[in-house]
Amino acid sequence: MEETGTYHEYIIIGAGIAGIKAAETIRACDADACIQVISDEPGFPYKRTDIDKHIANGFTNEDFLLHPAEWFKDSRIELLSEAVVEQIIPDKKLIILQHSGKHRYGKLLIASGAAPVVPEIIKSQNIPAYYIRTKSETLNFLEALKKSKSVTIIGGGVQSVEIAEQCILAGKKVTLLSRSSNLLQKYFPEDYSIDIERMLSEKGADLNLSIGISDISYRKGEGYDLKTTGKIIHSDLLVCTCGIIPNTVVVNNTGIQIGKGIMVNSSCETNMRDIFAAGDCAQYETNPPAGLWHSAEFMGKVAGQNMTGNTASLSSKTFRLKCELFGRFFFSQNYSRNKSITGTDINKQSIKQRWFITESGAAGVVMTDDKPRAKVYEKAVNEAWSIERIRKEIPL
Ligand SMILES: Cc1cc2nc3c(=O)[nH]c(=O)nc-3n(C[C@H](O)[C@H](O)[C@H](O)COP(=O)(O)OP(=O)(O)OC[C@H]3O[C@@H](n4cnc5c(N)ncnc54)[C@H](O)[C@@H]3O)c2cc1C
Repeated sequence: MEETGTYHEYIIIGAGIAGIKAAETIRACDADACIQVISDEPGFPYKRTDIDKHIANGFTNEDFLLHPAEWFKDSRIELLSEAVVEQIIPDKKLIILQHSGKHRYGKLLIASGAAPVVPEIIKSQNIPAYYIRTKSETLNFLEALKKSKSVTIIGGGVQSVEIAEQCILAGKKVTLLSRSSNLLQKYFPEDYSIDIERMLSEKGADLNLSIGISDISYRKGEGYDLKTTGKIIHSDLLVCTCGIIPNTVVVNNTGIQIGKGIMVNSSCETNMRDIFAAGDCAQYETNPPAGLWHSAEFMGKVAGQNMTGNTASLSSKTFRLKCELFGRFFFSQNYSRNKSITGTDINKQSIKQRWFITESGAAGVVMTDDKPRAKVYEKAVNEAWSIERIRKEIPL
C-alpha cells in the first residue's frame, strides 16, 4: 500500500548553517527540485555564532538572518518552522512530524546540529539554567539579565569566555567555573590561555579553574548557590556551557549508524540509501564533529552536491576558530595540546604567532591580535606553507 503524505524530492531536517548551505547547493545544482527545510525553531534561520557575541548590546529576532524572508520564496525553498521531526522510517522514505503528519522524501539530509551537555549535578537535581544555543533562548536570557546583578558560567570553552566578556560589558558580576586547569585549552597552548585568563580577571571576572561543583541549590527569586571546594558561589543567573553532543535523537531505532555522531562517508552519506547527514550531528572518520561553523557549512555543501548526483568529497580540511574578547583577537587552527610538534614562535610587539610545522609545512597555528590577516593564516595552514614562506608573506 502506498504511504500518504506530502512529497518533496529533498527534505532537510534542521535549518542551521549545514541545512541551509545544503538547500542553497541543491537549488544551485537543480533549478526545479522541490526542497523542504524543517526547523524546530521559530522564525527564519540565523547566524548562530552571533547570538553570544551580542549580549551586552542586545539584539532582536530580525537580526543575524542568514537570508531575508523573501529569499526562501524567491529560491522556492519551503521552510517549515516550529516543526519537530519525530521519526524517520527509511524503508518507506518517510518522516513523521510531531503535529503535521507524514512527509515523503526522495533524498533526506539530517542536519540536526548538537545539543548542550547538561552536567549530571544539574540534570539530577532538575536545576533550571541557560544554555545559549538558540536565538529565542538567548533573547530570554537577555531579559533575565536586565533584572540581574550576577551570573555564574559553568564551562571553560569559547562560548564560556565570550558570554563572560559580554556579561562583564553589560555591567554584571561574573563568576566562571571550570573543571579544566585552563580556559580554551582545546584551542590554545597554556601560555595563550593564561593570557586570556589574566585579561578576564583584570576585567573583573572571578575565575575558578580546576574546580568541581559538589552541590547546587536554586530558589526562585533568590538565585543559585553553587558549593565548590572551600566556598559557596551565589549568583542570580546560571549559564551552562559545558560542551555539545551531536543531536542524534531523530535517528534512534532507524538502523542509521551512530558513533560519536551520525556516521557518514566522504560524500556525507549515511549507511542508509538516500539519507545523508551534515554539520554538528555528523561524524566523518574517527573524529567527533568539529562543532565549528565553517565545518558545518562545508559539510552542508558537500552533502547538497552529492544529493543532487554531483560529486564532492569531505577532505581532511581543517577549520579555524576565532574569538574576540575586549577588543583583542585570538585565532587557532588545527592546534591540539596532545600533538607533539613543537611550536615556532614569531612574536613582535602585540602580535604573537606560534606555528606548528611538519615536514610537509604548516600544520597548525595559534595567533593573537592580527585580525586583518586572519585569512592569510588560514591559507598558510590549508596550503601547508613552509616557515620561510610564512615569514615572507606574513611578516611581523
Ligand atoms: C552561541 C554559539 C556561538 C558559537 N560561536 C562559534 C564561533 O564563534 N565559531 C565557530 O566556528 N563556531 C561557533 N559555534 C558553533 C557553530 O555555531 C556550530 O558548529 C554550527 O552552527 C553548527 O551548525 P549545524 O547546522 O550543524 O547545526 P545547528 O546550527 O545546531 O542547527 C541544527 C538545527 O536543527 C534543529 N533540529 C534538531 N533536531 C530537529 C528535529 N528533530 N526536527 C526539526 N529541527 C531539528 C535544531 O533545533 C537547530 O535549529 C557557536 C555555537 C553557539 C551555540
